[in-house]
Amino acid sequence: MKAHDGMYIDGAWRPAAGPGVIEVVNPADEQVIATVPAGTVEDVDAAVRAARAALPGWAATPPAERAARLAALRDVLVARQDEIAETVTAELGSPPKLSQTVHAGVPIAVTGSYAELAATYAFEERTGNSTVLHEPVGVVGAITPWNYPLHQIVAKTAPALAAGCTVVVKPAEDTPLVARLFAEAVHEAGIPAGVFNLVTGLGPVAGRALAEHPGVDLVSFTGSTAVGRRIGAIASGMVKKVALELGGKSANVILAGADLARAVNVGVANVMSNSGQTCSAWTRMLVHHDQYDEAVELAAAAAAKYGDRIGPLVSATQRDRVRGYIAKGVAEGARLAAGGPDSPHERGYYVSPTVFADVTPEMTIAQEEIFGPVLSVLRYTDEEDALRIANGTVYGLAGAVWAADETEAVAFARRMETGQVDINGGRFNPLAPFGGYKQSGVGRELGAHGLAEYLQTKSFQF
Ligand code: NAD
Repeated sequence: MKAHDGMYIDGAWRPAAGPGVIEVVNPADEQVIATVPAGTVEDVDAAVRAARAALPGWAATPPAERAARLAALRDVLVARQDEIAETVTAELGSPPKLSQTVHAGVPIAVTGSYAELAATYAFEERTGNSTVLHEPVGVVGAITPWNYPLHQIVAKTAPALAAGCTVVVKPAEDTPLVARLFAEAVHEAGIPAGVFNLVTGLGPVAGRALAEHPGVDLVSFTGSTAVGRRIGAIASGMVKKVALELGGKSANVILAGADLARAVNVGVANVMSNSGQTCSAWTRMLVHHDQYDEAVELAAAAAAKYGDRIGPLVSATQRDRVRGYIAKGVAEGARLAAGGPDSPHERGYYVSPTVFADVTPEMTIAQEEIFGPVLSVLRYTDEEDALRIANGTVYGLAGAVWAADETEAVAFARRMETGQVDINGGRFNPLAPFGGYKQSGVGRELGAHGLAEYLQTKSFQF
């Protein structure tokens, strides 16, 4: 058990203002592995002041120099990749391979993409007799969740730094250790004091103080819709800029004629990965009624293969929440084709990979985000019915379409009310904009669209 001290503020680890601590638990064995300080309003204030003081210098730093610092940061993350992976495995419980490839690998790719974008982005352009300037928004308050703990921090910090903004991050209370490691990496990369600051703490205390701080120009939040709504209300009351990445209930639409076995297997893998704790997971599989029984059998077999290969959920609270949804699915008449509420292990916050059949669109498990390894398989009669079901939730974050013919899949995807669609499997692209239609959020992350979130526009007329 390691008791960590200090907040990373103004380029140094400073003692926390208050005595409170947060315990970090390894969800695989329920042991307390560390404590971090629980930040207070004073810590947040010190961090925001540091970020404000550093803003003029960083905003005026030439983009090529900001790019060089981001490239140096990427190199430090590469050098510390194993340590990042081990840390995420310890505090999130994810299997080592997933921690290496995704939890460490994706942030490295994203940091690299912003090193390149900072160097090449048109921060000034001409239109007619005007020069248009894209200037940094200012101080960014970033509030992040635990599900992809480093990615969520990097998806906000890297574009903000590329844009010339300075940042205060408040990471999730369940996963503060990789956030501390990231602050060390920022320091090692030679990013100037005050440009990046980290305050660990509880959401309703430190998170709220950050959202409400008058020195913060943009609040970028990823997490639950309930908290997102509150952050949005605070921001609108203060006329602050806000970006919200919220929940999802994404549809995986398998059109008749698609390679059913591949679509089902990739679809199940997508839901089970990270124990289902992925906001963009394709948690509703939509299958034509002629192929429905075969798809359910394939999905159940695929889920059973995951068996004990998936990690635990992040906390007892999340495990209980997911079990509650499984119980609700059964109570509302859905049929368990695989898994169920029983835990496959004695210790740790595990839930078995679960597949529900006979799910109808209005059931709770087809409408609400479960955030666990639970797939709902729904049947449709024709493409119009599939579209109606796919678009029939308050969310619109991601999705997938499978068809024999790519043109057919694209035609269907154009009619989906969602921010990102993978066609016949797709492949992760760190440059593709990611974000929600409808109640899945406001704004976009990643690539040039993600950079634009941290810029504001000025024009000179000649
Ligand atoms: P959450 O929204 O409570 O927490 C996300 C972040 O917000 C954390 O850093 C937290 O400390 C902070 N926070 C909490 N209350 C706050 C407040 N009043 N003011 C300011 N900041 C506050 O999410 P959670 O409890 O970690 O997870 C609950 C559910 O949220 C999950 O089951 C899932 O449905 C959803 N979720 C979505 C995503 C996503 O990527 N969209 C990620 C994690 C969780």
